[in-house]
Amino acid sequence: MLERIRIVLIGTSHPGNIGAAARAMKTMGLEQLSLVAPRCDGITPEAIARASGADDILERATLHDTLEPALTDCRWVVGASARSRHLPWPLCSPREFSARLPGEMQDNKSTVALVFGREDKGLTNDELQRCHTHVHIPTSSDYSSLNLAAAVQVLAYECRQAFLATQTGPSDALPGSAYPFGVEWDNPLANHADTERFFEHLERTLIDIGFHDPGNPRQLMARLRRLYMRSRMDVMELNMLRGILTRVDRLQNSATRPTDQDEGSH
Ligand code: SAH
Repeated sequence: MLERIRIVLIGTSHPGNIGAAARAMKTMGLEQLSLVAPRCDGITPEAIARASGADDILERATLHDTLEPALTDCRWVVGASARSRHLPWPLCSPREFSARLPGEMQDNKSTVALVFGREDKGLTNDELQRCHTHVHIPTSSDYSSLNLAAAVQVLAYECRQAFLATQTGPSDALPGSAYPFGVEWDNPLANHADTERFFEHLERTLIDIGFHDPGNPRQLMARLRRLYMRSRMDVMELNMLRGILTRVDRLQNSATRPTDQDEGSH
């Protein structure tokens, strides 16, 4: 289970934090590290020194220019956030995160991503809106921002607790966590890449039919994202929605296509 949890660090500016995050991961048995557009030289001698024996994690870390390729195969994307944002989003505590984890990973192919932001300004709204859920580590109300690697440590610890709970026996370890919905689901959940393609299609169609004005977006796409991310679409549901959009596209095209008469009048 732990090998299918990916720690994603976006825009990290201190190599030491990358090394310390790798060390935090290794102590808890996590293996997958992805670095997205680091704002430093990445795996420097300082990073290796701070990894202090977890350099194998650094060696195997993947490097990406953008967030998308780091999430492609993920079915549950969780963003670690130090503060609350303008548009409320599903939010859990580290404990709730760890209680949900085994159910989320029950399908043996599911990868879970835990996304962490920049030391100075965290995650952008756009990045946060690509997450199903946000997780906030409760802190003193005076000061809510942990060091990046410390935040990785806390959540990696919760991953380990979830894993240990699965080792103590199937019956008593996971009450009510058979799947995110509490029952054995009939279809696999949609992964990140397919979900993003659906949002692109939805946006395009809403623009075409004149429902969405990109010049005056009024958080429409953010709110629709929140709706669909909250519902955890499975692959069948996502295909149905794509099918509906394709049908709308076709009707829209035939409605806006000039008729013979129109063409004649030009
Ligand atoms: N100054 C930034 C905090 C950056 S700390 C801000 O205000 O957003 C770097 C990263 O560590 C954050 O983006 C987040 O992913 C993680 N982090 C720090 N404190 C956290 C907390 N209390 N709960 C969850 N994640 C936290």
